[in-house]
Amino acid sequence: MGVISTDSQNWHHREVDALTKEHQVDPSYGLSHLEVAARRLRYGTNALENRTGRTKLALLADQFKNPMVIILLGAAIISGVIGDAIDALAIVVIIFLTSGIGFFQSLRADRAMAALQAMATPQATVIRDGQIQLIASDCLVPGDIVYLEAGNQVPADLRLIELSQLRVDESALTGESVTVCKQSAALPASAYSPLGDRLNMAFRGTIASHGRAHGLVVAIGMSTEIGKIARLLDQNDPSTPLQKQLALFGKRLAIFVIVISAAFFGAGVWRGEPVMQMALLAISLAVAAIPEALPAVVTVLLALGARHMVGLHALVRRLPLVETLGSVTVICSDKTGTLTQNCMQVECLAAGGRVWESGESVPGPLHHAAWQAAVLCNDARQANGGLGGGWLGDPTEVALVEAANFVGINKNSEQLRWPRVQEYPFDSSRRRMTTLHKAEVGFIAFTKGAPESVLPCCQFKWTTEGLIPLDQDELMQQATMMAAQGMRVLALARRDHLAIPDPNQTLEAEQQLAFLGLIGLIDPPRVEIAAAVRDCLSAGIAVIMITGDHPATALAIALRVGIVSDAEAKVLTGQELALLDKGGLLEQVDQVKVYARVDPAQKIRIVEALQARGHVVAMTGDGINDAPALQRADVGVAMGKGGTDVARQAAGIVLLDDNFATIVAAIREGRRIVGNIRKFIRYALTGNSGEMWLLLLAPMLMLPMPLLPIHILWVNLVTDGLPGLALAAEPAERNVMLQPPRAPDESLFSIGMWPHILVVGLLIGGLCLTVQAWALSTTPEHSQTMVFTLMTFSQMTYVMVIRSESQSLWRLGLYSNLPLLGAVVVTLFLQMALIYIPALNSVFQTAPLSLVELSICVGAALALGLLLEIEKGLLRRKI
Ligand code: ADP
Ligand code: MG
Repeated sequence: MGVISTDSQNWHHREVDALTKEHQVDPSYGLSHLEVAARRLRYGTNALENRTGRTKLALLADQFKNPMVIILLGAAIISGVIGDAIDALAIVVIIFLTSGIGFFQSLRADRAMAALQAMATPQATVIRDGQIQLIASDCLVPGDIVYLEAGNQVPADLRLIELSQLRVDESALTGESVTVCKQSAALPASAYSPLGDRLNMAFRGTIASHGRAHGLVVAIGMSTEIGKIARLLDQNDPSTPLQKQLALFGKRLAIFVIVISAAFFGAGVWRGEPVMQMALLAISLAVAAIPEALPAVVTVLLALGARHMVGLHALVRRLPLVETLGSVTVICSDKTGTLTQNCMQVECLAAGGRVWESGESVPGPLHHAAWQAAVLCNDARQANGGLGGGWLGDPTEVALVEAANFVGINKNSEQLRWPRVQEYPFDSSRRRMTTLHKAEVGFIAFTKGAPESVLPCCQFKWTTEGLIPLDQDELMQQATMMAAQGMRVLALARRDHLAIPDPNQTLEAEQQLAFLGLIGLIDPPRVEIAAAVRDCLSAGIAVIMITGDHPATALAIALRVGIVSDAEAKVLTGQELALLDKGGLLEQVDQVKVYARVDPAQKIRIVEALQARGHVVAMTGDGINDAPALQRADVGVAMGKGGTDVARQAAGIVLLDDNFATIVAAIREGRRIVGNIRKFIRYALTGNSGEMWLLLLAPMLMLPMPLLPIHILWVNLVTDGLPGLALAAEPAERNVMLQPPRAPDESLFSIGMWPHILVVGLLIGGLCLTVQAWALSTTPEHSQTMVFTLMTFSQMTYVMVIRSESQSLWRLGLYSNLPLLGAVVVTLFLQMALIYIPALNSVFQTAPLSLVELSICVGAALALGLLLEIEKGLLRRKI
């Protein structure tokens, strides 16, 4: 292979033939897989570098911006000054440990998100080894032949070889929002042409908005125009509402800690206590109040949640959405493919007053003409380049080709006889498409589309004897009857031309058509939808269907899956919607559950009206025009299989299986994760509250320092941290989907949380004080160790109890969260090591406990667990 210049600027001046020769590729065959492998080695992957936002340094700096860390640093300095070197060192070590853990956890979370985003990278359709294939666009090499269709993001810089009405939105590259009409001819080499004028090129990152084309890959990865600009993806704020609330809480806590420590210190010194002793106490208080493990654990719980959602076929592209999902109050869903199987089958074809039903092998002569139209005005293509095999493309069109095959009409042979010379592509707002074919004499235009779209263009009925006048109303009625049975109905029509109509006059080709027939297709609902819709309703989530399909079809399917329960339910059509003003829509939006014949552009109005009503909206979409609504919705949901790249880029979540039930599963998962985060927050803060009570009450009761700062740090970090991470594995509460959604701005600290934290903290503190008093009267040198051990043990019983907010531990079962059980066992072992290993005794200033002393700690912790279970039991009773 000769050297291909991937840096040349002048592809647009060169002829296609010369370029394909230079790239040694036959456009109808593509590269061979061996050649692809060789070129990948040579030119690398088609990836843009440096796409994830935060640098490692920024991440590290973030860890030290935390006010809690600053207070800890202050505590270390004071400890050092008053001469407690071990404590000072311990605090410094702990600061670096927490920051280190925080750093690696954030890095891991960032990596996980980057990996998720990478999974969402677009695919490209190429021809290689003579076969059309779908590959990850990262794998493109120079010389590949890429197929573009409306909705595709251009995967590399392409020199266009052949195209049909291709229009490209280049705003990502040039900032110009008007779409550009492309061509394939070489441009004169005379003048300098800016990117926007290179009409025979399609650049990476731009979007094909209309038509189709194929082109030669001339530059990949960082050599592409967009790679040169090295524009970074827009970086959105990486912290979630919950994390923001936590940050705010951290600031307030810092102030509280400073005030209370200073007050305590001042009061003690004023009373004449030794200054050193009071300084140490103030530091201990500060350390006790700060939940050191909290930020890292929350990040990890969110990131693990996002990863878990991939297993459920929901790919989360932005971390905050894990939380938002849990608060969704209404899901607006497409019908075709999301609620239904998108496995279309032709059910019947009505033509010339006779209905052909699926299964009949011989159609009448009029049916024959309709089938011809159905396969010719059709973009389905055969997988193996026409050599037999399955059909690819829009499921509606594939169904038409397959049904026609059954009655002996083959798309390939029809197309050989009447080759396509021009087309007016389908789009969801026109709801029809037309293709022009060269016939033996003159040309024939075939149109297919929604009956309301096609019938008004028809003036005649086509018969073998010639054209006869048609009765539009009668046909429209027939179409509505078919739709009411849940069928998708398409009308077919044709018009014979002597010469090619003006390609810029869509109207001319789509006027005075002769009607051929009506085709009814069925697309059964997915089996799991009815249950998923029921789940939504019991979880306080409304389900709305928005479709481009006929109102009768939409209603029939909505009834079948349980979105509406009444055959007379109101269906709002796009036409009616267009007539409503903002206020009018606002009045209806809470009642209407089915929207039919809606333009994608109207979806954004529905989103906005729902949001104005206070809803948190999840909206699905797959087309280019869906992008604004996806962006506007609180949770934009794109289709991973069927959708366009544009929709996927605009959405926050990509459904890998295009299934409505997956959205519901993701919502359930979001609720579970947020629930577990709240449990962890409660757990950590209650522990802190216990430590604070202990430290505040001890001097008042004339008891010596019950704990050293190093003990407190150990409890807050290891004892809270390990089980906290394991809470990520806690299964959802049995009633997660039986409760109404939480408001997204609802405080972190739900009602009743503070009293619980204070009272249970007092209980823990009281237990510790009692044990301390007992130890002081028997073996005073063991008292700190006993309190330290009891603190750890009681955290362990507490975390087991807090696993569920209402169910008792017996109901949950000890083994239903094995990671947590493991974390508890490991923590208990570590505690034993701190007590019984002599080397650790001196570092942690502990002493080996006797069996009696250890049993007292175990007993007290179990008693605490029992009391907490009783509290849960009482709460259960009350509900
Ligand atoms: P949805 O996916 O929400 O059901 P679409 O916007 O895809 O709606 O389609 C709207 C209408 O356009 C359909 O009800 C059908 O009548 C018509 N239609 C859909 N696909 C095609 C196609 N490939 N060719 C012609 N008409 C189509
Ligand atoms: Mg569709």
